[in-house]
Amino acid sequence: MAQPTSQTAALVVAETRDGAITPLTLELLGIARILALELGGAVAAMLVGDNSNAAEALAAHGADRVYLCAMPGAAPEYEGERWLPCVEHAVREIKPRTVLVGHTPAGGDLAPRLAFRLDSAVATGCVGVAVESGTVRFTRACYGGNVRETVSFTTLPAVATIKAGVGAPLARGASSGEIVPMAVPDVKPRTRVISRTREAESGKRLEDARIIVAGGRGLEGAEGFRVLEDLAAILGATVGASRVPCDLGWCPHSWQIGLTGKTVTPDLYFAIGISGAGHHLAGCGNAKAIVAINTDPDAAIFREAQFGIVADYRKVVPALAQALHKLKEEDRA
Ligand code: FAD
Repeated sequence: MAQPTSQTAALVVAETRDGAITPLTLELLGIARILALELGGAVAAMLVGDNSNAAEALAAHGADRVYLCAMPGAAPEYEGERWLPCVEHAVREIKPRTVLVGHTPAGGDLAPRLAFRLDSAVATGCVGVAVESGTVRFTRACYGGNVRETVSFTTLPAVATIKAGVGAPLARGASSGEIVPMAVPDVKPRTRVISRTREAESGKRLEDARIIVAGGRGLEGAEGFRVLEDLAAILGATVGASRVPCDLGWCPHSWQIGLTGKTVTPDLYFAIGISGAGHHLAGCGNAKAIVAINTDPDAAIFREAQFGIVADYRKVVPALAQALHKLKEEDRA
């Protein structure tokens, strides 16, 4: 049985993919470690599902204690009705000051429900976490991504979903935490998952991609994405999009980047035929470098971009792809 700990600075709710801890969960552990240093207390992680390898990874990447709720028969994928009672039970026992959840479809479902059950509050989609005078402050986008606000909580625990790229993962061996089996609460789900179908992915997931080539309405049709795919193939990049091409059916919805799409944190982000609306930048503004290609010199994207090309993408992108091809061939020779 888990022993209550009075001094837990942060509890991280872990997510796995194909059995492995997600990179975002490791980033949350990095943030939790900073909170523990600033506030005092321990870092806890919570894992739902019978996965001792994942629990060990959490214990090695910054968690002092890993609470393992090995619910028999629980699917490794998120199921709100099964996860929520486990996480609520853990929070009531551990009494952390903050509960950090990834800003993912699962986290976005879990966190508000958890906060409601705990009679607390939630801050979603946070892009910054800091401690000032002993108070944890969370920064997030508001007004459609045009403004950032900083919030603190008047209730405990502070429940927050954090976007990818905000925290830095700690190296394996940063901690040698203990794994604590957690009692499985009596769960009576009112729904059951009949089947899951994973969307076919071409190349690296957008969330994990180091280089992204993204297209917008300026591509003027689905064939524009074939041009982008050529460039992406040479760069080893993943193709993404603004919302407009997804809504128009030029590309899959899973390619959408932005406030209501995916949050990405690549080293290099090509924004091609994308105007740079706040809703879009909310998903890619944390890229290390943005290259904008746009015919309009006044497009807002040029204010965010480190490199800009004012031109028709039909001319620039194939030329860029060709030049990169040549460079690669020269390298090989
Ligand atoms: P546009 O704004 O139409 O820009 C097209 C650009 O292409 C222009 O700058 C133009 O100069 C340029 N262009 C045209 N022809 C060429 C050419 N041949 N070569 C090069 N450049 C060219 N949007 C998102 O992206 N992601 C979201 O998650 C998202 N969520 C939203 C949520 C809400 C609640 C709302 C209201 C909106 C949301 N939007 C989102 C929509 C967002 O506000 C913008 O409408 C959208 O991002 C604009 O997409 P765009 O830049 O592709 O198109």
